[in-house]
Amino acid sequence: MPRGLNSAVKLVQLLVSGSVRNGGTAVDATAGNGNDTLFLAGLVGPEGLVYAFDIQEKALQATRSALEKAGMSGRVVLVRAGHEEMEKIVRGPVDAVIFNLGYLPGGEHSVTTRPGTTVRALQAALNLLRPGGRVGVVVYTGHPGGREECDAVEKMASSLDGNLYNVIRINFINRSGAAPVVVVIEKAGEPR
Ligand code: SAM
Repeated sequence: MPRGLNSAVKLVQLLVSGSVRNGGTAVDATAGNGNDTLFLAGLVGPEGLVYAFDIQEKALQATRSALEKAGMSGRVVLVRAGHEEMEKIVRGPVDAVIFNLGYLPGGEHSVTTRPGTTVRALQAALNLLRPGGRVGVVVYTGHPGGREECDAVEKMASSLDGNLYNVIRINFINRSGAAPVVVVIEKAGEPR
């Protein structure tokens, strides 16, 4: 399990891990190099299922080889599609969804997540979530368009009904204004 508070990615993994059950279903909304997919695949175990979305073949290739190396390919469905399409593909309910926004590290910076599709995908993730399930988001503000995306995520998350969702935001308050921001949304209710 991730330790330490130094990494936004690890914080999201830590906070989301409490809602993922052995044999459950989870979604990596931005597969990238596959780190979150691998993490979720470990949590759901051999009987579970992870859907991993990315719009870039390069990202899915990297995720595929990471899964093969770890012997976990059999529990992951790789989907080349925008995460805003996830309701058409994922069979819910799901335990957790992770969004690690922005561009592929080492890839083309212009191919990045965008506020409009990100907000649509977040809504789709909430629709798929089981009671007690969690959506974790890492949003980066230091690249072009990142601040706007962060504002859109925060606007959407803060407008959710407090009787239906528990929503938290974590900021690194002793770092620069460009430090990543973490948002976690839990669907209220007893786990089924
Ligand atoms: N979670 C990844 C990991 O563990 O390595 C890192 C993700 S990276 C910061 C963001 C990824 O989002 C990129 O690979 C990019 O191609 C992908 N992306 C951009 N727009 C997308 C969309 N609409 N749907 C799904 N993925 C998207």
